[in-house]
Amino acid sequence: MDFFTYKNGCLFAEDVDIAKIAASVGTPVYIYSKSTILDHYEKIKKAFAELDTTICYSIKACGNINILKIFAGLGSGFDIVSGGELFRARQAGADMKKVVFAGVGKTDEEITAALKAGIGYFNIESEAEFENLVKLTKQTGIKTKAALRVNPDVDPKTHKFITTGKKETKFGVDIERAQKFFEQYGKNDYVNLCAIHVHLGSGGKTIDPYRLATEKVLPLIDTLRGKGFKIEMIDLGGGYGADYQTDTVPTAADYAKGIVPLLAGKNLKLVLEPGKSIMANAGILLTKVLYLKQGGNKKFVIVDAGMNDLIRPSLYEAFHFIWPAKIEEKFSYVKRTENLDIKDLEFVDIVGPICEPTDFFAKDRAIPPVNRGDLLAVFTAGAYGFTMASNYNARPLPAEVLVDGKNFKIIRKRQSYEDLISLEK
Ligand SMILES: *Cc1c(COP(=O)(O)O)cnc(C)c1O
Repeated sequence: MDFFTYKNGCLFAEDVDIAKIAASVGTPVYIYSKSTILDHYEKIKKAFAELDTTICYSIKACGNINILKIFAGLGSGFDIVSGGELFRARQAGADMKKVVFAGVGKTDEEITAALKAGIGYFNIESEAEFENLVKLTKQTGIKTKAALRVNPDVDPKTHKFITTGKKETKFGVDIERAQKFFEQYGKNDYVNLCAIHVHLGSGGKTIDPYRLATEKVLPLIDTLRGKGFKIEMIDLGGGYGADYQTDTVPTAADYAKGIVPLLAGKNLKLVLEPGKSIMANAGILLTKVLYLKQGGNKKFVIVDAGMNDLIRPSLYEAFHFIWPAKIEEKFSYVKRTENLDIKDLEFVDIVGPICEPTDFFAKDRAIPPVNRGDLLAVFTAGAYGFTMASNYNARPLPAEVLVDGKNFKIIRKRQSYEDLISLEK
């Protein structure tokens, strides 16, 4: 569920008319809904309440300090993948014991900073990384805990660019190697290897890969325990589906139905690292129509946001529902699906101003007729939207706005041209 709805033909974020935000902040702008974040978070929490569960929100989905503060306030932990995200988590007042650090290429500086910050677990991806972590714990005199990232060789059936849990990826180690890993490193005095981490990739559309991965990993945990290794936690990562097209993804309750029975009574703490499933439809990218153009028998709608602002369509061929912020009543049946009642709609390509042919948001998409100056909402843009934005074509990063009930506030100013060159000598 989210809180972007049409009232009398005008798009509202909670109780704020989107047009009001555009008038005051300009476009392109990311607009997030606090109630949506709370709703999604609480649903996950409730669904997994039966187990000793810690939700570690994945910062890379949307890392604005103000967003992270909401999560910290809810008692959420954080999944970080860099020193920069560690810094963000600290700035947001995160409980460091609830921070897990993943990634195949952690630098010594990043690891040392995380040790000093006292994070909960390092998610370890290779033997070399474990040995280096031990070295750094000795150097700093700070002991820590680690989870081994295991690659269960399960295909989440998502886009190949965001699949991480299959055998031939750079992430984790396979199940056979995991046993040897524990035999070699599982009784270390400095790094307590006491957990298993699995992250299958992003954007799964069914719960089956999660059930399958859990079923594959539990026997490993039994075996390891049988050999005297203490396994206290299983981290099932993120990648849970987000509702990009209505009713096509499982809910938190669906995931829990598949996973909780497998883990019940196992004396395992559970960590979840959701990103997209909380943030994706908690945000929209609002853009303005600059020009309409006919090219051959195609109609182009050229907007003021580009692939530098939201790269998911170009990068993953991702679908984003796009709809005008102001519509005639007859178009308010909007269901955010590709299967629209196409009567009265026009087929258009919605493209940005960037000098690249891949700078598009939608192709052959049916939308109500629009005019120059109209506002278009690109839905489900709250995750991997702003965090993947760049300054390509010397375009300043867009502003970010957080809506809470009747109020909205700018949580990140639009970059200026001065900002663009401020680090250049
Ligand atoms: C990216 C990532 C996540 C979050 O994935 P979502 O698809 O946004 O839920 C969780 N854990 C790890 C290790 C990740 O790399």
